[in-house]
Amino acid sequence: MNIVYGSELSLEIKEKLKKETETFKGRKPQLAVVLVGEDPASVSYVKGKNKACGEVGIDCMQINLPEETTEKELLSLIEELNGNSEVDGILVQLPLPKQICEKNILNSISPLKDVDGLHPINAGKLFMGEEAFYPCTPSGIIELLNKMGVDPDGKNVVVVGRSNLVGLPVARLLLMKNATVSICHSHTKNLKEICSKADILIAAIGKARFFTSEYIKEGAYVIDVGVNRVDGKLCGDVDFENVKDKCAAITPVPKGVGPMTITMLLANTIKAYKLHEGLK
Ligand code: NAP
Repeated sequence: MNIVYGSELSLEIKEKLKKETETFKGRKPQLAVVLVGEDPASVSYVKGKNKACGEVGIDCMQINLPEETTEKELLSLIEELNGNSEVDGILVQLPLPKQICEKNILNSISPLKDVDGLHPINAGKLFMGEEAFYPCTPSGIIELLNKMGVDPDGKNVVVVGRSNLVGLPVARLLLMKNATVSICHSHTKNLKEICSKADILIAAIGKARFFTSEYIKEGAYVIDVGVNRVDGKLCGDVDFENVKDKCAAITPVPKGVGPMTITMLLANTIKAYKLHEGLK
C-alpha cells in the first residue's frame, strides 16, 4: 500500500512552476479571481488560490463583489477582464448567488482566459482530443496517477460520477491515455461488481466512505475525489481505513486531490500567459 499525497506532489509541481515564472521577462502572469458575496467556504477557497498564486510568482487580482450584484454587472466586469491584456486567466468562484445564471457567466469568459477549463469551447476541444484548457481536478488526477507510477494504457478504469466538472472530463483524459473506461452513475446496475474489477478506480460521487473494501480489486489504484464532512471532519468517498491495505496506491482526503486542483489552476494560468505572450 502506497498513500500518494497530492499535498506533496503539488509542492513538487509548484517548485517547477516557480522556476518557470522566474525566467519570464517583463510582466508577471496574472490571474483575476472574482468572488461574489461572502460565503465562508468560497472566501476560504479564494484565499487559498490567492496564496498559491503568490508562491509561484503569479499576480492575483482579487475582485470582491457584493452578494446583490446583478448578472449584468458581473457580465460587464468579465467583458472588461476579457479585454485587459494584463490578465491571463479569469476565475469566477462558484457557486454564485441565485440571481446570477452560472452558465451565462462561464460562457462569457474568453476561452483563451478560461483557466478553469469550463467554457464549452474548451470542453468541446477536450472531447475532440484537442489541446485546450482542461478542467483542473481531472488534470490533477492524471498527475496523481502518474505519480503512482501507473500507466492507464490498456487498464480497466472505472470512473464513478459523470459531472462536467470531474467525471466526464477525467474519463475523456483517461481515454486519451488509451485506458478502457467505464463511466458509472446513480442509475448504474451492479456498481459493486463493476468497481471490483477496476485496475484504476476514480471515486467522484460525494458520498462519505461509500466505496468499502468489496468495491475494490486487490492491487487497484484508487483516486478519491469526494469531499464530505462527517462529524465536523473531512473524509472522501472511499472507506480509506478499511481499503488502503488492499490497494497498490490510494489518495487520502484531505491532502489528496484537493491540493492538486489548485496547482493545476496555477499551471493553466502560466499556460495562458505563455499563449498570450507568444512563448512556447
Ligand atoms: P456532482 O455534480 O454532484 O456529481 C456526482 C455524480 O455522482 C453524479 O454523476 C451522480 O450520478 C453520481 N452519484 C451520486 N450518487 C451515486 C451513487 N450512489 N452511485 C453511483 N453514482 C452516484 O459532483 P461533482 O462536482 O462531480 O463532485 C463529486 C465529489 O467530488 C464531491 O464530493 C465534490 O465535493 C468533490 N470534488 C472535489 C474536488 C477537489 O478538488 N477535491 C473538486 C471537485 C469536486 P447522476 O449523474 O446519475 O446523478
